[in-house]
Amino acid sequence: MRTLIKNGTVVTASDTYRADILIEDEKIVSIELESMAAYDQVYDAFGKLIFPGAIDVHTHLDMPFGGTVTADDFTTGTTAAAAGGTTCIIDYALQTPGKSLEEALQAWHARADGKCAIDYGFHVAVTDLNDTILEEIPDLVEKGYPSFKVFMAYKGVFQVDDATLLRVLQQAGVSGGLVLVHAENGDVIDVLTREMLAEGKTEPIYHALSRPPQAEEEAVNRFITIAELSGAPAYIVHLSDAGALGRVAEARLRGHKIFAETCPQYLLLSIDRYYEPDFGGAKYVMSPPLREEGNEEFLWDGLASGNLQVVASDHCSFNMKEQKELGLHDFTKIPNGAPGVETRVQLLYAGGVNSGRITQNQFVDLVSTAPARLFGLYPQKGTIAVGSDADLVIFNPDAPFTVSQGTQFQNVDYNPYEGFQGHGVPEKVFSRGELVINNGKYVGKIGHGKFQKRSPFGQF
Ligand SMILES: [Zn+2]
Repeated sequence: MRTLIKNGTVVTASDTYRADILIEDEKIVSIELESMAAYDQVYDAFGKLIFPGAIDVHTHLDMPFGGTVTADDFTTGTTAAAAGGTTCIIDYALQTPGKSLEEALQAWHARADGKCAIDYGFHVAVTDLNDTILEEIPDLVEKGYPSFKVFMAYKGVFQVDDATLLRVLQQAGVSGGLVLVHAENGDVIDVLTREMLAEGKTEPIYHALSRPPQAEEEAVNRFITIAELSGAPAYIVHLSDAGALGRVAEARLRGHKIFAETCPQYLLLSIDRYYEPDFGGAKYVMSPPLREEGNEEFLWDGLASGNLQVVASDHCSFNMKEQKELGLHDFTKIPNGAPGVETRVQLLYAGGVNSGRITQNQFVDLVSTAPARLFGLYPQKGTIAVGSDADLVIFNPDAPFTVSQGTQFQNVDYNPYEGFQGHGVPEKVFSRGELVINNGKYVGKIGHGKFQKRSPFGQF
């Protein structure tokens, strides 16, 4: 099957140019001006941009948390991702204390295999370390799981100590692995949380007030320091705070391989959302929490300057009804997380490119190319090149959109960006050459998405 996409403007992380793209089966086979190649089907992309399919390296689908399970599973979550222009996700397999990392991966494969609309991979979260677990790390890098997550928050659940941070960094560093961290000081947060509950402060705003920016900045700084002394590269997930970003920028100036991602919620929403009436603030209960107005300007600058390399969603959806409601009288019982896999690309385009904060090429780098390079998917994914997977988005930069729960694919009863308006719509989305989204309709096949074995860190 040969598909030609004609007359579009190709946008990669480095270039913008007019070209026709010829796809044969799953791959891009030629990129040239005014292609004369024979084809079976053709799409005219005149006036449209063609991006490499976006890659979301931070999702939680079908994940148990706080006595409940996320509202989106791998079918609804990956369909929503596709609708938003994303053609590959990397989700987190969480180690159960006392069990192996391999068992965690088996459990997550059972949740995902055969159920995805687009391609997927897994990071592995290490929650309970010993010598045997440490030995699994090189093995898993070899098997296509080169990224390992550790938590400095969620005391008594996922949180690990500094010794564990160091040992995981040392082992990953010599094995071609990249260590990812949730950087908030869980001990400090635990004390503040107890104090607030003791004073009868139970509303959603206290979620944010019990997790102040200093708790993030301290953890980011500690993690960077330990990573530097180990010599290993390291990556901070969902960085939300300007002070923490300053620590990342300093480490990068020293020449250390420190990378960081932020998320649309920290760029577009602020702490006053927690005051929404009738428990509405619970929609935004996530960790780290939303920050003070003005903080987002530093994050936008970080994206423009390159100190933040990735924008991911941290999609982790829970319904207001029966799920977020578990914390109606106690903010610590509100399941942490919010949906965003479907809106990430459009929100960053509208908030970043249309407002002149980042260029189209930077946008492509943040949502696709840098994630592909950092997480071992490049150059098969993350760019538009001959030989790469035909993961492509025909994007109409002039088409208006309004975010609404009523029209979303995400299987959850609210959208944190309800009513947000902007321009830029992924009209057609191809996953390995197959059209999966056509003008707002899902036209793919569930199970088309394949597990992606990724390369060790640092190859591209
Ligand atoms: Zn997360």
